[in-house]
Amino acid sequence: MRAGQQIRRTLALTASLLAALAVGMAGSKAQNAGLAADFRNWIEREIWPAAAAVGVTRAVFDNAFVNVTPDLGLPELVLPGAAPGPAIDQAEFRSPAGYFNEAGIRTLVSIGTEEMRNWGSTLAAIEARYGVPREIVLAIWARESAYGRASIPHNAITALATQAFLGRRAEKFRGELIAALQILQSGDVTAREMRSSWAGGLGHPQFLPSTYLTYAVDFDGDGRRDIWRSVPDALASIANYLARHGWNSAFGWGAEIDLPAGVSCRFEGPHQGMPLSAWSAFGIAVPTGSTAGNRYLLLPAGRFGPAFLVTDNFYVLKDYNESDLYALFVGHLADRIASGGGAFRGAWQPIEGLTHAEIQNLQQRMEAAGYDVGGADGLIGFRTRISVGAVQAALGLAETCFPDRAFFEAVG
Ligand code: CA
Repeated sequence: MRAGQQIRRTLALTASLLAALAVGMAGSKAQNAGLAADFRNWIEREIWPAAAAVGVTRAVFDNAFVNVTPDLGLPELVLPGAAPGPAIDQAEFRSPAGYFNEAGIRTLVSIGTEEMRNWGSTLAAIEARYGVPREIVLAIWARESAYGRASIPHNAITALATQAFLGRRAEKFRGELIAALQILQSGDVTAREMRSSWAGGLGHPQFLPSTYLTYAVDFDGDGRRDIWRSVPDALASIANYLARHGWNSAFGWGAEIDLPAGVSCRFEGPHQGMPLSAWSAFGIAVPTGSTAGNRYLLLPAGRFGPAFLVTDNFYVLKDYNESDLYALFVGHLADRIASGGGAFRGAWQPIEGLTHAEIQNLQQRMEAAGYDVGGADGLIGFRTRISVGAVQAALGLAETCFPDRAFFEAVG
């Protein structure tokens, strides 16, 4: 949205929202009616022309918005005059140890083993067509929607329109709302059936609408790309996404290694790939399996957790969700579904962690001192980890490549 439109929209909204908020979210009927009217005007003025321009008919458009009103209970809304609510704690950004809950993983392995049998011939056909191993497809299905068992609580048009109208990331969601209307125009799903998460993740694979338009496939051959009710469509869509992002069937995602104490943690990251033979020369015992392709050192918790050598396929998994922990979770769960292995050998050591704001503050100070932290976003990605290691080396501290409280205070 252009700045002028944004300002006009905000001004138009403020009066009715302030009134509604003054008496709490429920508001009075008249005040909610004001917001609903603003919403309707915005749909007509901003969304209809954009939808029409990409071929959405008036009938499909009107049907999509029947009974749709803004859902003020959704996360990440910016309501003028109100203090911003807390950002959602995306599980992807939590501490590494908390992410790998062993009891939860065991449950997913157990259901995944069962689903591997239930969908055996479908998974074999998907693997043959897309070249993505069945256990990888199953693990993403597990992570995204608990094998389709998770409730998908929202009407997608309501969630997307609310986010586009009032959300912190309104501009992004405006495009996704238009894409969702294109899905309805295609006839693959009805407005009533099109369910999503609060953030617009659709169906079993939790595709955003724009992702759906590009990557969803009809695998069961009924003529509809139904990632809500057809497991074959959902699983093949996941495999198609990975294949088209470059999944290479010549090797897996990677493996855990034991990193010798003498190898610097600053060798981590996708820009420092080397063949396995070169890693072997560092004294690292090479994991079994294919030796094709480059390997990259991955240390999600720096020296405070297990170490991995990963392949280019690991970064294809990150294309699905840009988080080291997400991709590692998928790879690990896939291994355990396929061959029944156990938890990582290396332990996630307890870390006296920092708050999001403290990490951001630390990153800003490191940036000011000339270190690349990959943007001061409050998240501990590989660039932040490497730079922490560099600061530690410069200060003569032990290199851990992970910012804990001791480090925060040491550089304070
Ligand atoms: Ca289908």
